[in-house]
Amino acid sequence: MSILDQSVTARIQSGILPKSIAGARVGRARGARCAVCHVAMRSPDTAVEVEVESLRGVFHQACFNLWREDVARLRAQES
Ligand SMILES: [Zn+2]
Repeated sequence: MSILDQSVTARIQSGILPKSIAGARVGRARGARCAVCHVAMRSPDTAVEVEVESLRGVFHQACFNLWREDVARLRAQES
């Protein structure tokens, strides 16, 4: 597990990142910072936007995949 993976897990557990992947959609990058790596996304990158309850995250595709894997792992541990 990398340091990046650990920080994603920690942020999911502390509620900074959503714990549900529902509502994810792919859109255009508009200069927002990625919720995982904090690097700004710029066109023509695609950005994955996730809006769950009051939490909204914008991710690089690769970072979204990291986060999604962590959500799946955390959910598996809970059940
Ligand atoms: Zn990123």
